[in-house]
Amino acid sequence: VLLSVDEARQRLLSALTPLEIETIPLAYAGGRTLGEDLFSEVDLPPFSNSSMDGFAVRASDLARASLENPVQLEVVGDIPAGVVSTGALAPGQAMRIMTGAPVPAGADAVVPVEDTDFQIRQAGVDAPSQVSVNRSVSSGAYIRPQGEDLGRGERVLAAGLQLRPQDLGMLATLGVASVPVRRRPRVALLSTGDELLPVDSELEPGKIRESNSYTLAAQVERSGGQPVHLGIVPDTALAVRESLETAVARDVDLILSSAGVSVGAFDFVRGVVEEHGVLEFWRVNMRPGKPFSFGHFREIPFVGLPGNPVSAFVGFEVFLRPALLNLAGVTGWSRRTLKVRLLEDIASDGRESYLRAVLTWDGPEPAARLTGHQGSGNLFSLVQASALLVVPAGVTELPAGSIVDAWPLA
Ligand code: AMP
Ligand code: MG
Repeated sequence: VLLSVDEARQRLLSALTPLEIETIPLAYAGGRTLGEDLFSEVDLPPFSNSSMDGFAVRASDLARASLENPVQLEVVGDIPAGVVSTGALAPGQAMRIMTGAPVPAGADAVVPVEDTDFQIRQAGVDAPSQVSVNRSVSSGAYIRPQGEDLGRGERVLAAGLQLRPQDLGMLATLGVASVPVRRRPRVALLSTGDELLPVDSELEPGKIRESNSYTLAAQVERSGGQPVHLGIVPDTALAVRESLETAVARDVDLILSSAGVSVGAFDFVRGVVEEHGVLEFWRVNMRPGKPFSFGHFREIPFVGLPGNPVSAFVGFEVFLRPALLNLAGVTGWSRRTLKVRLLEDIASDGRESYLRAVLTWDGPEPAARLTGHQGSGNLFSLVQASALLVVPAGVTELPAGSIVDAWPLA
């Protein structure tokens, strides 16, 4: 049977369950997925405080204050940030106050220093004994009331969120020094092929340098996972078996092979996985990357992508990125998609096609042009691309000017 891309992705996702929760220091939590809902144990702000450098006042004292008729107040205190004033304001009194300092008892507003006759703003200058205020203020002006932003007991962040910089700041504000996050998926990368050479070797006749493990490792990291390199494995059943056992010993959550699972005479991966597990072959209605295999090797989920570098890359984006995010417990993820205008005619074979393209931004909406021939071994055309265009299944021709979906490539 021919599966649609959506069906294949759904099958894969439903076979994977989120990993356990672990608790890590806040400083390491960026990009990790929050494992539990987090509720505030405090009010924010925790106390009413000034939003300006100025003077804490009683608004009623200043009802008639103006530039022409300033009101003179007695300054009875000086409150830097971090200090709680012990005194209280009586009528006719003010206290100098700094941004973030707690509002003293008796005060119900702050007058910014700019609206007074006290203009000396250098550090280290003492508060004056009198201050003239040349405007009125309403009660509550320039005060950030306790609990205004967030009340104790409110839910602040939801489980399944990938923590962003601002979320880390929020957690620090709330005193969450250890954060419950999902464990990062460990993904073993298997590269099989007698033609493959390590990156630091000279080319030899008939051989190529192994590249998929580098591409895929970076994609794994960008999806919140940890790559585990199994290295280059020769095309023999014994070598493949040893390598898969290494993956088991290294306690990985998923094994990702980028070749060796087609029907070639030297594709031993299939047989070895089936000996110790199960493997299903799906024909997915997509291009590139039609053959896709999924199963288990000794209980560990196993995914086989095609070996061609562009097919492996696209297969990862279409299937593995959502799968790893699922393992990492992320909820509500969707890929950023743009609507772009085609600058040239495109022909497709009716499969859901992922085409390499460059986006340009000089019109009312982004426009796209293909990056040359779309052979699935042509990694250079992927390197030149800034997006994948998604041509839906069933479409065989798209004239220039058509609007298509594009996935920007990071
Ligand atoms: P296979 O799936 O083994 O038939 O490989 C399909 C194509 O992808 C062949 O041209 C392989 O040489 C190439 N290929 C397979 N694995 C890799 C790899 N790890 N890095 C680069 N090219 C690869
Ligand atoms: Mg091969």
